[in-house]
Amino acid sequence: MSAERCLVLGVDVGGSTIKAEVLTEDHRPVLAGRVPTPCGDPGGTAVLDAVAGLSRDLLRAVPPDGPPVGALGAGVPGIVDRDRGVGVFSANLGWRDAPVAEHLRRALGLPVVVSHDVAAAGLAEQRLGAGRGAHDVLFVVIGTGIAGAVLVAGELVSGGAGQAGEIGHIRMRPDGPACGCGARGCLETLASARAVAAAYTARTGRAVRGAAEVVAALDTDADARAVWAEAVGALADGLLVTQAVLASRRVVLGGGLAAAGAALLEPLDAALRERATVQRVPELRLAELGERAGVVGAALAARESLLAAREPRPAEESRSAEGPRSAEESRSAEGRRSAEGPR
Ligand SMILES: [Zn+2]
Repeated sequence: MSAERCLVLGVDVGGSTIKAEVLTEDHRPVLAGRVPTPCGDPGGTAVLDAVAGLSRDLLRAVPPDGPPVGALGAGVPGIVDRDRGVGVFSANLGWRDAPVAEHLRRALGLPVVVSHDVAAAGLAEQRLGAGRGAHDVLFVVIGTGIAGAVLVAGELVSGGAGQAGEIGHIRMRPDGPACGCGARGCLETLASARAVAAAYTARTGRAVRGAAEVVAALDTDADARAVWAEAVGALADGLLVTQAVLASRRVVLGGGLAAAGAALLEPLDAALRERATVQRVPELRLAELGERAGVVGAALAARESLLAAREPRPAEESRSAEGPRSAEESRSAEGRRSAEGPR
């Protein structure tokens, strides 16, 4: 079975729910399931056993007469070492150095590709969702906090330990509210859904259930409008910082706050145009894949890694045609190549 035709299993390990889908070569879901995330133990065994159990149930349900599942992609939160397939740290899951790839490979007998959950969602939006057609995309999730995924020339930029895209901790106002990271005035203390609700309560003394309540009151409540304008302004300032570095063509907004729709897009676009000087003003889009983005992106990362691994490499092809070469011959071939210099 070729890597192009096989099915891929995508898993998104969230703080409260583990979601999984089996996807076809053209990214259609054929099976789906979810289980609650067990309370984490520091090594992650309980969580990874739950992922393996859900995966096994789906693998058993795959029709035996169709293409088999060729790989598993797992999206996990926190700090992620993609190369080693390790969940380095996650406050939500309560794990440290969880051997995600090794545990799942042993349990399921499949190749496993581990992604950062937001990066996976960003990959899915760029390939199949609101980022389609743009090669340089910044995906921003605005919920309790703010996180991002950076795609340049169609490729994810992960950085060391997957930390590229942590735009929620760009320091916008040094005298601003305290952030969970230990600093003050980070973007997510000013423009996340939690920040909007907290700012409204601080201004009016009235508790709200969330940012959606503030958005719903924009037409009738001047305090809601003032709080919203502050948050949108901070978000525009934050995006102008990322635009100074990346000049992304498109910014895709997801997470709970993106449910505000036009009430977010229109003033944000206006604030960007008003404040930008030399920075490129990006096209703004709302995310399209919703809560499936993480699963779909984890599966995409696994499929793309399968395809990359099976791409024929010219050097290997000629070697197998000629039969095995000695190390000595390989070294001298290497020497010839470098003697030819760069082309
Ligand atoms: Zn912070």
